[in-house]
Amino acid sequence: MKLTFLGTGAADYDWSKYGQEGIAGSTVTLLEERILLDCGPTAEAAMKRFGVNAEQINCIVNTHSHSDHFNIDNIRKITSGRKIDFYGSVQACEKLTDCCNVHAITFGDEFTVNGCTFLALPANHAVEDIREETFNYLISSNGKTLLYALDTAWMLTKARRLLGTKHIDAIVWDATMSQPDNWRIFEHSDPVMFAAIRRVLQKSGNIDENVKVWFDHRALTLWPTDPAEQEAIARRENVMLARDGESVTI
Ligand SMILES: [Zn+2]
Ligand SMILES: [Zn+2]
Repeated sequence: MKLTFLGTGAADYDWSKYGQEGIAGSTVTLLEERILLDCGPTAEAAMKRFGVNAEQINCIVNTHSHSDHFNIDNIRKITSGRKIDFYGSVQACEKLTDCCNVHAITFGDEFTVNGCTFLALPANHAVEDIREETFNYLISSNGKTLLYALDTAWMLTKARRLLGTKHIDAIVWDATMSQPDNWRIFEHSDPVMFAAIRRVLQKSGNIDENVKVWFDHRALTLWPTDPAEQEAIARRENVMLARDGESVTI
């Protein structure tokens, strides 16, 4: 399974400065060269910057409709007249019926695109419309399974139930905060929260010591600005930091 992190920043970046040193893009990940996981305000610029052709994208899978993950102008630029598949909440789908083949999903739904099977898990997160569902995904492709968990706080009971005994090879986790005790813990995560979840998932056999973990969706104002300090946190937590433009294989 191939992932390219096209953007790894949380919503506190000034994206009018996108392209300048130290400005991470909105969180967008390219999966198996064909699928965009989210499509926020810097998605199209990031694709140009990192050499991804819009024509190779035939599907967008959306976690939720916060503006840093869901930008209709960018979706239109990428589809540019082609009707590509879009998977997301009922409310997000309603906004895209003219430019996408929309597939409204709900928790527990499973769907397959380009050989990648997605299981829609509930995220611990909410948009302005409190009734709108927000998703994390368990994604299986080429014999590997990825937990794509952003944006989210602590894993919800229903997500844990849907996970069952499935084995997870890699995790992309919401690490909006670098420190515990932040008021955002009811919607986002920090390394202490993740470490507790990781220990229990390892005890239950869902992951082992070889699990690859990337911290993604890191907030500019909640992480140290010095890259060496950022890497020190990653080393301490035994994770990697997702970086804009980086491709990884699971
Ligand atoms: Zn976000
Ligand atoms: Zn969000």
